Amino acid sequence: NLSERLEKSFKILKGQGKITEINVAETLKEVRRSLLDADVNYKIAKEFTNTVKEKALGMNVLTAVKPGQMMVKIVHDELIQLMGGTHVDINIKGNPAVILMSGLQGSGKTTFSGKLANLLKTKRGKHPLLVACDVYRPAAIEQLKVLGEQIGVPVYSEEGNNDPVKIALNAVKEARATGKDVVIVDTAGRLAIDEQMMNEIAAIKKAIDPEETLFVVDAMTGQDAVNTAKEFNDRLNFDGVILTKLDGDTRGGAALSIRTVVSKPIKFVGTGEKLEALDVFHPERMADRILGMGDIVSLVEKAQEQFDAEEAKKLQKKIAKNQFNFNDFLSQIQQIKKMGNIKDLASMIPGVGKALKDVDIDDDAFKGVEAIIYSMTPEERENPELINGSRRKRIASGSGTTIQDVNRLLKQFDESKKMMRMLSKGGKMMGKAPMKR
Ligand code: GDP
Ligand code: MG
Repeated sequence: NLSERLEKSFKILKGQGKITEINVAETLKEVRRSLLDADVNYKIAKEFTNTVKEKALGMNVLTAVKPGQMMVKIVHDELIQLMGGTHVDINIKGNPAVILMSGLQGSGKTTFSGKLANLLKTKRGKHPLLVACDVYRPAAIEQLKVLGEQIGVPVYSEEGNNDPVKIALNAVKEARATGKDVVIVDTAGRLAIDEQMMNEIAAIKKAIDPEETLFVVDAMTGQDAVNTAKEFNDRLNFDGVILTKLDGDTRGGAALSIRTVVSKPIKFVGTGEKLEALDVFHPERMADRILGMGDIVSLVEKAQEQFDAEEAKKLQKKIAKNQFNFNDFLSQIQQIKKMGNIKDLASMIPGVGKALKDVDIDDDAFKGVEAIIYSMTPEERENPELINGSRRKRIASGSGTTIQDVNRLLKQFDESKKMMRMLSKGGKMMGKAPMKR
């Protein structure tokens, strides 16, 4: 599925120091293929990957974050944008508020009508009236009645009347007369787009002038869902989309494409046949679902919050000039501690992750290290090379550790300093200097 494919594609970037045109191209190819596999429209997938590419290449890579994780974040944010950014609620103001369902047969209109009535009644204190306007199939009216009974919501229907426009108008009158504040009009669909159906639903819309016209679509129909959405929107200019049958691991691609093609918000998703299987649509959650990587995304966000970009720059300069000292080391440790979840984050911090690589990392792991650094004089912290034998002895007793502990820390510090310097030099030498012997 899409999330697995994307995850796999990000592995390509794993272990690479920075985002370049070349490693981005590889990943984007995979991202595009994944989107297409998930039934995202070709043009949209292409536009999407182009935007992601531009963002990735123009990005100042945070020292704290691996490029692979950065890409996840960029794709995640872009998915959210593509799906409209924020949640858009349905409009249930109006007296009564009229909500009209549209969509193909089998898309889930009747089921959703029941789910929505149930939600408005139990969660928002509304008094809905369900209206059966699918006059062609007696079973459809019966289906709505059964649902209404289950949730204790009245169902308006007219035996023998086969004019859905009149039924809808009468239902709104009935709602006014009986103090119902929301009218949910369930309509007939066809198996495919059909002129008669379109005329009928357009006529109902014109007659009752609903607060909300909702287009219900089966997420499992993939690419077809997009075409259907476009035709219905051209005709009805609907207000929102309901994506049904998004149960289990149904591909989420339809959500992306539909939103882009019709520029209308997805308002709810149906996640099962039961009446409770209804979720408010949140672009962010859908992006999480599509990526299946919520944890990484929040990890990156955490790191971004905590790392002042300026700090990072300064640090880079110091590393390059070989001026990285124990004060920097200490502030890096404090950064890690601020973020919590040390095991995951330590590896992101230049130097520190390496220095602590043999330690079983938890909060206590830093205690000895911090104690040793605090026992150094400010001068010693600035210039670690001052720390000779007698100073080591003093620092050990001051910090309640042993000389071996102090020696180990100094050695680790030297090693990571060397490594950082190598890394920062490496970047500048690329493609220029021949290898030195
Ligand atoms: P309508 O023709 O548009 O009114 O569609 P229905 O509401 O009758 O739904 C068609 C079929 O899809 C029924 O068997 C429903 O139980 C099923 N269905 C509707 N919504 C969902 C959903 O979110 N998940 C699943 N798994 N099935 C659904
Ligand atoms: Mg129906």
